[in-house]
Amino acid sequence: MVCVNRWSQTDCEEFVSKLTSKGINKDLAIRTYSARLLGSDPELVLHGGGNTSVKTYMKDIFGNDLSVICVKGSGWNLETIEPEGHPSVKLEPLLKLKNLISLSDEEMVSVQRQNLLNPNAPNPSVETLLHAFLPYKFVDHTHSVALLSLANQPNASEICKEIFGNRLVIVPYVMPGFDLALAANKYFLEAEDKSNKNNIPLEGMILLNHGLFTFGENAKESYDRMISIVQESEKVINRKIELDFSISNFENILDSTKIKILSYLRGLITQKSQKYGFHEKWIIDLRSSKKILDFLENENISDLSNRGVATPDHVIRTKAKPLVLDKVQSVQSEICLDSLEEWVTKSSNQLEKYIEDYLSYFDSNNLRVGNSKTQLDPLPRLILIPGIGLIGINHDKNSAKITSDIGEAWLETLLSAEEFGKFVPVHEKDTFDLEYWSLEQAKLGNKKKPRLKGNVVVITGAGGTIGSAIAKEFSREGAEIVSIDINFEKSNETANYCNSSALAIECDLTNEEDVDEAFKKIITQFGGIDILISNAGIAIRGDMKDIKKSELMKSLEINLFSHYYMAKKSVEVFSAQDFIAKTKKNYIGGQLLFNISKQSLNPGTGFGAYGISKTALLALMKQYAIEEGPNNVRSNCINADRIRSGLLNNEMIKSRSKKRGLSEEEYMSGNLLGKEVNSLDVARAFVSLSLMGKTTGTILTVDGGNVAAMPR
Ligand code: ZN
Repeated sequence: MVCVNRWSQTDCEEFVSKLTSKGINKDLAIRTYSARLLGSDPELVLHGGGNTSVKTYMKDIFGNDLSVICVKGSGWNLETIEPEGHPSVKLEPLLKLKNLISLSDEEMVSVQRQNLLNPNAPNPSVETLLHAFLPYKFVDHTHSVALLSLANQPNASEICKEIFGNRLVIVPYVMPGFDLALAANKYFLEAEDKSNKNNIPLEGMILLNHGLFTFGENAKESYDRMISIVQESEKVINRKIELDFSISNFENILDSTKIKILSYLRGLITQKSQKYGFHEKWIIDLRSSKKILDFLENENISDLSNRGVATPDHVIRTKAKPLVLDKVQSVQSEICLDSLEEWVTKSSNQLEKYIEDYLSYFDSNNLRVGNSKTQLDPLPRLILIPGIGLIGINHDKNSAKITSDIGEAWLETLLSAEEFGKFVPVHEKDTFDLEYWSLEQAKLGNKKKPRLKGNVVVITGAGGTIGSAIAKEFSREGAEIVSIDINFEKSNETANYCNSSALAIECDLTNEEDVDEAFKKIITQFGGIDILISNAGIAIRGDMKDIKKSELMKSLEINLFSHYYMAKKSVEVFSAQDFIAKTKKNYIGGQLLFNISKQSLNPGTGFGAYGISKTALLALMKQYAIEEGPNNVRSNCINADRIRSGLLNNEMIKSRSKKRGLSEEEYMSGNLLGKEVNSLDVARAFVSLSLMGKTTGTILTVDGGNVAAMPR
C-alpha cells in the first residue's frame, strides 16, 4: 500500500493541547493536525494543492458566538499549515449564495473577503463554497494520484460507482469556483436522498478529472475515509512509481557528456524565450530515476504525453503538455560532438513547433472567450528526453523543483491509468480556462521580479567573510547560489544563509579534476552557469629574498591557476549555452568576476608572493575580456582594500595600526573618505558590476579612496 493512515491519537492530542494552550480554538487545532497529515503525503497533495476546512464557532467583538468556516487560505501549503492558514469566514452569508444562479470569480472572492473575521487574512480557497455547502463539520480535499488514475478514465463514473457503490457522490468535471460549488451541491443532495433511503452513509465526493473530497463529523472520520478510499483505489490500479522527492539528484548523476546536454538545452530555452520577447533566464530540475527512464523508452510517448494534465490546477505549474525531445545518439555511452550538434538543432525545431502549437492553442481558445486574455509565455515547463529524464524548467530552482514534482505525479497518474484502462483527462478547453483563469490573470504583472532571478552564480571561497557576504547579497537579488569552499562546513554555512536551493560544494580549486566534478554538480543541479565570482585567495607573506619557490608556487596555484580552471570551465558552459544562437548578437554570454587586490596595483613590501599572483590574475581578467568579449562574456574585477576578513584578521589589524601609530579605527578608515570599508561593500560592488551590461575589462575599486592604488 503506497498511501498509509498516519493518524496517531497521542500525537494529535499533544499537538492540539499545545495549540489550545495558546488560545487556539480546539476544532481549528485538530483541523491543523489532520491538514498537515494530508499535506505530508505527496500521494495526496503537492505544493499548495488540496484544501481542508472545519465549521465551528468563534466569538465576535461582543462575545457572541458566530458560526464560521475555517478554510485553507491561498498561499499556504497543507504540509506546514498553521492555524492562521485556515482563515475564518462567517458561514451564514456564504450559505445564502446557494440561492444565486451565477457569481463571477471576482464577486465570489469579494464576498468571501467581506466575511472574513480577520480582514488581513489571506484569500480563502477558491473551493470555499463547495466546503461551505457540504453539511459536515470536517471536509478534506486532495488530488490523490491513485484516485485520479480512476477519475481520468473515459467511463470514470461507472468505474467509480462499481468500486465505491453509493458511498461517494460523483460529480462530472466543472471548473473550480461558484459553478462547481453549485453542481457539487446538486449532486450531493441527490446522493443524500438515496443514502437516506438505503441507509448507507455518504463518505465523500469524487470530482471527475479533478480529485477527491471526504467529510465527517470529526477530523479523524474524514481523514480515515480519505485514506481508505485512496487505498481502495490502489487495490484496483497497478502503481508504477512511488512518489518520493527526498532522493538527492546526485545519487544518479549522469556522465559528463550527458550533463553537457543540459547546458545546451538551457541555452536553447533561453534563446527561444528571448526570441518571443520573454527575457527571463531559466533553471532546470532533472529527474532520472529508472522508472522515469523506462517510461521514456515507451513507443507511445508522444501520444501519451499529449493527452493532458492529471488534475486541472497542475496546468499553472506544468502547462498542458510537456515537450518531448529525441534520444541523443551515443556510442558506448559517449556522445560525439556531431551527434550532439545534430540533436540540438533538431531539438530547436521541436521546441519551435511546441511554441507554434501553444500560440495557436492560445489564439483559438482566446477567441472563444472573446479575446479577453493576456498571453503567457509559450515555453514548455516539462521536457522529456529518453535516456536523460524528466526535466522541469522554471524561473528559479524552487519553482523548477515543484514543476518536476508535479511532472512525476502526472507521469504516475498517467501510467497507472493506462495500466488500468485509458488515461483521458479534461479537454483542452477546460485546461485553457484554468491556465487563463481571471484570478490568475489578475496576478500578472503584480510581482516585482528580483534583478538577478534565474542567474546561476558560482562563488569560490564562499566560506570566508567576503565570499559569504557576496553569496548572501546575490541571493537577496534572486540569484541561484553555488557556494564553493575547500571546507564543506563553511561552504554549507554560507549556503544556509542563502535561499533554500543554494548548493554547497567542497572543492580543492587547485585540482582541475575536483573543479570538473564541481561543475558536474552545478550543471546537474541548475543546468548551467551565468556568473562566476572567482574570489578564493590566500596571502602568503615574506620578502622576496626569503620566500621559497614552493611558497610562490602555492600562491600562484591558489591566486591564479584555480581562477583559471574555474574561468575555463565557465567559458565552456557559456559556449554550450550559446551553441544554438544564430548570430553573436544573440549570445547570452556570461560573466567572469575576479577578486584581485590592491597588491596588483600598488604593491607593498613583504607581500610579493601575494602581489605577483594577484597581478597575474589581473592579467587573466584582461585576457578573458579581450578574447571572450565578442562572445558577450564580460570579464571584470574588484580591487577591494583593507576589509576585515580571514586575510586581514583582528590580530593583523592590531599589529598594523600599532606599527603606524594609529588607533584601529583610524587605521581601518585611513582612506580619502575616512570610512571603513567592509565585506558588504565588496559584495554590493560585485552585484553592481554584474549589472553593468556594457562594462568589461575593468577594475572597480572598493577602498574608500587611495591615490596610490588608483589604476593608472
Ligand atoms: Zn482541487
